[in-house]
Parts: sequence; structure tokens; C-alpha cells
Amino acid sequence: MERNLKNVLVISFGFLLLFTAYGGLQSLQSSLNSEEGLGVASLSVLYAALIISSMFLPPFLIEKLGCKWTIACSMCCYIAFFLGNFYSSWYTLIPTSVILGLGGAPLWSAKCTYLTIAGNSYAQKAGKIGRDIINQYFGVFFLIFQSSGVWGNLISSLVLGQSPQQVEISEEDLKCCGAYDCITAAANNTTAFKKPEMTLVYTMLGIYTGSGVLAVLLIVTFLDQIKANEVESEKETMKKESPLSLVLATFRLLKDKRQCFLIPLTMWSGFEQGFLAGDYTKSYVTCSLGIHFVGYVMICFAATNSLCSMLFGKISQFTGRKVLFSFGTLINLSCIIALLLWKPHPSQFAVFFIFPALWGMADAIWQTQTNALYGVLFEKNKEAAFANYRLWESLGFVIAFGYSTFLQVYIKLYVLLSVLVMSMVGYGIVEYMESKESPRPPTPVSKEITGAPAQETPLWSVPAACIVYGGNYHSKNAPVCECKSSRGRGSKGCTMAEDHNTKDTLKPLVFRLHDSVPKMVREVLMERGWSEFDKRQQDKSDWNLYWRNTPFHVTDHRNIKPWQRLNHYPETVKITRKDYLARNLKRMKGIYGSALYEFSPVAFIMPNDYVKFIAEYSKERQSQGRKSSYWICKPVNLSRGRGILIFQDIKDLIYDYVVIVQKYISNPLLISGYKWDLRLYVCVTSFCPLTIYTYEEGLVRFATEKFDLSSLDNVYAHLTNTSINKFGPSYKKDKVGIGRGCKWTFSKCRSYLRSIGVDDLLLWQRINNIVTLTLLAITPSVPLTHNCFELFGFDILIDDKFKPWLLEVNCSPALHLDCSIDATVKKGLLHDVIELLNYKQIDTLRQSKGVRTKASCASNHRLNALSLLLYNLSWKLQEDHLVKRP
Ligand code: ADP
Repeated sequence: MERNLKNVLVISFGFLLLFTAYGGLQSLQSSLNSEEGLGVASLSVLYAALIISSMFLPPFLIEKLGCKWTIACSMCCYIAFFLGNFYSSWYTLIPTSVILGLGGAPLWSAKCTYLTIAGNSYAQKAGKIGRDIINQYFGVFFLIFQSSGVWGNLISSLVLGQSPQQVEISEEDLKCCGAYDCITAAANNTTAFKKPEMTLVYTMLGIYTGSGVLAVLLIVTFLDQIKANEVESEKETMKKESPLSLVLATFRLLKDKRQCFLIPLTMWSGFEQGFLAGDYTKSYVTCSLGIHFVGYVMICFAATNSLCSMLFGKISQFTGRKVLFSFGTLINLSCIIALLLWKPHPSQFAVFFIFPALWGMADAIWQTQTNALYGVLFEKNKEAAFANYRLWESLGFVIAFGYSTFLQVYIKLYVLLSVLVMSMVGYGIVEYMESKESPRPPTPVSKEITGAPAQETPLWSVPAACIVYGGNYHSKNAPVCECKSSRGRGSKGCTMAEDHNTKDTLKPLVFRLHDSVPKMVREVLMERGWSEFDKRQQDKSDWNLYWRNTPFHVTDHRNIKPWQRLNHYPETVKITRKDYLARNLKRMKGIYGSALYEFSPVAFIMPNDYVKFIAEYSKERQSQGRKSSYWICKPVNLSRGRGILIFQDIKDLIYDYVVIVQKYISNPLLISGYKWDLRLYVCVTSFCPLTIYTYEEGLVRFATEKFDLSSLDNVYAHLTNTSINKFGPSYKKDKVGIGRGCKWTFSKCRSYLRSIGVDDLLLWQRINNIVTLTLLAITPSVPLTHNCFELFGFDILIDDKFKPWLLEVNCSPALHLDCSIDATVKKGLLHDVIELLNYKQIDTLRQSKGVRTKASCASNHRLNALSLLLYNLSWKLQEDHLVKRP
């Protein structure tokens, strides 16, 4: 048998043995140790110890002992409690209850941790998804464990039913049963409360203790230790859940009003279970039928409870939770009222079973629906939410068992009634608050945490300047940059993430968006199963990706965590602002020669370069006689074609802010008489070493009126911005040769180019060269920052000699969707960008895995000059081959 599955079975049967014993004994506590309410007091103490233990002990013990020995030792705490019952007194039961309470939390935590590690380990070996295997393991565990409620109670009823002289309960004594029981002392003196024969009690305790010992032996003998590397990774998890941070997160969640309103409902769960186990068993069953019936009655509860849990889980999908909560309330309300009125009598034998059956049904609703409610409401903060759940539920138990001795049953029933009403009011308010909130986009459950409906074939190609080891991408060696890490979907490629041990968890990746980010980004991330950061509920380090349209603050870069990514590098404005780009490309031209950096039209920054511009303008006029070049004047700080002016005569040049005056490409390559340019998407995942991906699909943006140099002020003929053309009179018209709208995809453009005999691959190569040379202009000056990436939009215009020109570089290329072509291109693009970021499952943990260090890049920068020489050579070679005219 597969080793991991064997371990799952060992744990499951170990728990079955232990909880068969514990479950049976818990149901009997109130009846078996009824003197001065010792039994219920011990249960109350037990749950209080459990609350404290769950806050502090599990991480510490698991780290020190490992999962196997934590499970074994915690089980011994249960055995101590069983032994304490042999000589039940305040001095034995209370301390052993504390011991059990302390052991309870580490036991469950260690079990969960073990199953998770085993599931991940198997998934890794078998190449399956960790979460699926973990779910299967938990399924097996609960399937086996569930039945413990039946066996323990069956044992108690069978053993205690063996008494040769079954006590006949007198009619007088029966008056003391039910809601108006003759509280504690009186009730305990009745025949029914006479302790069963001690030999039978010892036999039963002996069986329970034996069962507990067997559980420990099973674990010690057959459960494998987790391997050293798995423990290491687990220790990291435990460090994250440091007691203090979890406690703080738990209490921080109380700032959320919804959590506060849910407290009564959560406590109700403890109250109602406490009542059934402590009071119903004692004041109704034991009192009227005898202690040996407690087991049978509780089996009835356990059976309906399990059955209905499964059932309601399914039904809720059709009815919604509100209907089920109402149904649960109705059942409990009717039961409470009936219990207040009912005078239990052995003649109504069946009724003793109807109540636990109904109670089990309602309890199934509370358990499944309240858990689910927490999961949905506090989706982004599940850990703290469930810690709150456990805390308030346990407190409900503590109170219910705590007051059990002092209050008469009818008063407890009124208390239950009030708590139930309060719960429903609180729950109603939460539902109301939820309905008031603006509807949130649905979070589809994705198959894989980082998996996604991504492109079948990645469309990124790596310009020749990057070395990529293996992978699906076009690659070519050159000395400028390198990239060695692995990439998602099994292929190798470039990544910013360090290789962590992957470890699956149920947490989703979290994204954080700045206000102005288009909703498509949210949609795509949601599609990939990510969830959105909620600053009200989450810590500021609790996100994986922060996307904004404007640059980040220095502190954002400084405080970045290993699992986080920012969508901008610092200093990239040096190529994304028109005047800085012009200046930097001019500088590069000065250093590396105009032959290499001649892809950007000559530009002057005004007013600073006014004199130089006049000189150039006059020179041209003189050399060309009366015919002068065309110029385009663009405000440096504006985008979307705003404030642009095209002119030929200097007298038309008017500007009142900083602008660049650039040579206007007056011979663009036209398609059916229309001007067009390319919006090329480029993703840089590292500047050190420089790692660039150019997206092979992109947008071809058309002007919507025919190109005409005699009407320079017609923006629809000269500018290709969609923001302008979508308001043009011909936008919706079917334009000959280009169709409706103003966009094509790259693919369509490529086929067109091929159809007119252009070597589109060579053109693509030249465009890639432009991208690399432009980025090289700023590579040395981008500060060494970790975990950034940047998606640039390069605007490229091709002239009628098939020469590509760089018009500008956009730092946050538009990601909103204007038409179906936008949706095809941009959605695919974004999915692939996220793929490139190479998130690992370890990133979903959002915990520190040590400081990321990077080697100095000085040597890389020194290599730039060398690489540029190589480029120069290849550029020249390509030039002669670019156009194959028909
Ligand atoms: P913005 O980002 O403000 O839109 P761009 O530089 O992208 O500024 O220019 C807008 C449009 O003007 C381009 O899409 C292109 O159609 C046209 N354009 C810009 N510069 C030139 C140029 N030098 N030659 C020809 N057309 C140009």
C-alpha cells in the first residue's frame, strides 16, 4: 500500500479508537459524576483549557516533537482523563480535564498538519494537485472517524445495561425528571441517579482506557515520522502561526462588526451541544430511563447528525443558507418549548429518541452552515475567522457546562431560548449588512491555486538579448542578461521568484489594486482563483501582487516581502515620459552611434531645445528648398493623443507647456490608405539581469480617416489613438480594407504583411531590437529592487520602407476593453503576465522564507557596450534582407 495512505489510515483508526472512548465518556459525565456537578464542571474546565491550549501550544509542540510524537503525547493526555474517572473526585477529574484540554488542541493541529504534509508529499511524487490529495485524505479520515460517536455510546449502553438488578424508577422520582428537575442534590438522590454498579463502571472505563492505549500504540508503532525536509518546511508554517500573531489576528477580526454580530450564533453552537451532552442526558434520559440508555440516545444524535451534515451540505446549494438557518431555528425552538412542557416518562420511550434526532438535525445545520458562513464572510482572513469560531464555540461549551450544576433545567432552557433569539438577531443583521454591500464579483473555484484558464501556447518571445535556459520561448544567447530560474507549467524560463519548497495550502493568492486600475485586471485575477485584498481585514503584508497605474513609493519597494510583486520598477519614467525618452535615446546615440540608435524620430524638448530646433528646421529648409519636413508637437506629460499638433511651418508651432517636437513620419506604411501603428506589449521581469519578454500578439491601431498630408489638423487621419478614433465619424463604418472599428490583431497584420511580400519575422526581429536597445538605455540606472515587474506598451510605427520607428513607451498601457479584439488580446496578455511572475504555492502562505539576495549586477552593465557592438553587426545584416518586394 502507498506509504502516505497507510499513514492516513493509521491516524484515522487511532483517532477512532481514542474518540470512541472519549465520546462515550463525555456523554456520561453529567450522569456518572453528578455529585455537586463534578462531571459538567470537569467538562467546563476541559473546554476552557482547550481554548487556552489552542492559542499557544500546537505550534510549539509540533516544532519540538514533530507531528507523530505530538499526536502520541496528546493522546496520552486523553488517557490521563480516562484514568482520572476511575477515582472520580475534584482532585482527580479537574486536573485530568485540564491535561486533556491542553492536549486536545495540539492533537488536532498535529493531525491536520500531518495529513496536509502527507497529501502534498504524495501529490508531488505523483504529479497531482496537492489540494485534491489533501481533500481525499481528509475525506478518508472523517469517514472513519465519524463513527466514533456510535461505538463509544454503544459500549457504554451495552456495558451499563448489564446490571443484574436494573433499578425500577419510581413515579415519585420521575417527577424530578425533565425541565423542572429537583435540582442537583435532590435529583442525585433519586434511584435513577444512583451510580451504576462500580464493577460495570470500571469495566466500561477499562474498555475506554484500553481503547485509548491501543490508539497510542497504533500511532507509535505504525505511523511514520515525517521526513526531515518536510518537517523543516512545516516549521516555517508553524513560525508563521506564532501564538501571538494568531491571537492578535483573532482579536483584530473583532473590529469587523460582522464578526461581533456572529458571536451569539457561534456561542449558540457550544450552548446547544453542551445542553444535549450535559443536561438532556442527565435530566431526561438517565433520570427517567437509567444511565445505560444514554449511549443509545447519543447514538441516535450522532447518526442523524452525520446524515444531516452530508445532506444539508448538498441542500444548501439549492436553498441557500438563510432557509437552513431558519429551519434550524425552528427545530431548536420547537424542541426547547417541547422540553419545557414535556414530563419525561419511560412509557413514552420513543420520545426520548425523537429529541436527540431533531437536535442532531439542527446541530448539523449549525455546524455546516456556520462554518460555511465564516468561510464566505471572512474569505480573505480565514485563519483568524476560524480561530474566532473555535474560541466562541468553546466559550459556549464552557458556559453551558459551567452553569449546568447551579441552574435548574427550565432556566437553562430559557437561557438557550434567549441565546437562540440573540443568535438569530445577530445573524439577521449580518445578512442585512451583506445584502447592503455592493455585490462582489464571484470568486470561481479554480482547479489549481495558481492554475488558470491561461493561453494554451505562451505568446511571449524573448528578444535576443536575453539568455533563457530551456523553455518554450524563443531564445538566443547574448552576453547582456541571463535568467536561470524555472517557470510555471513545468517549463523552464525566467522568474523573479526564488525556488522555494512548494507546499500546497487552501489559501488563494491575493491581489491588491489601486483605485484607477481597469476592472479587467480584477476579472482576470479572479478567474485565476485569486482573491482581492481587503485592508479592513488583512494585514498589509497579506497580498501577493500589488497593481497600480502610478509608480510606487520608495517605502513600498523597501518593505517588499519575498512572496510579493509590484507592477512597476522605480525610475522607468526615464523611458516612459516622452522628453526623458528622447533625452536618453539621444545620449545612447551619442555613445553607441547613430547607426544603432536611429529608430526614434529626431526630437527636441521645448522650450530648452528651442535654439537647436530652429537650427535644424532652418538647415532642412535650406537644403530642401521650400519643401520642409513635417513635425509633431506632443506635450510630455499627456497621453491619449491629447494636446498633439502636427505642423510644417514653424509659425504654426504653439505650445504653453513642456513639449517635444519630433520629426513627423510622413511616409507611414498605409493599409488601404489608412495610417496604423503597433501597440506592442513588453514585460520586463528583471533589470538585473535584464530579462525581457515581448508578447507576440498585440494591437494594430488604425486612424479612421484616410491619411492626407494636406489636412494636418485632421486627428482622425494622423493619430492612431483609439481614445480619439472611437469618436470619429467613420469609426463604426465598414472601411474598405480594414473593416469596422479601428483595431486589428498582430496575427491579422502579419498575414497581411506576408500577403504583400514582407518578411514579417525579420520585421518582428527588428522591433525586438528596438525594445532591447530602448530598455538598455535605462538598465544601469534602475535601482536594484526585488520582486518587481513592468508591463510596457511600446508604440511602433512602420514606414513605407518597412522601417519600424519607436514613437513612445507607455508605463501603464491601457487595459480596458473597448472592443472584442481588446478582450482577446488584453485578457490573454494579462493571463500570461501572471504566468510569467511564476508564483509558487509557497507564496500563498505569505510568510517569510528569508531575505532574498541578488548578486551585484556591475559586471552585467559593463557588458552592455559589448552587446551593442554585436547588435550593430546583426542590425546591418538584417537591413538588407528585410523587404522582399513582390
Ligand atoms: P500619446 O501617448 O499622447 O498618444 P504618442 O506619441 O503616442 O502620444 O502619439 C500619438 C499618436 O500620434 C501616435 O499613435 C501616432 O499615430 C502619432 N504620432 C506620434 N508621433 C509620431 C511621429 N513622430 N510620426 C508620425 N506619427 C506620430
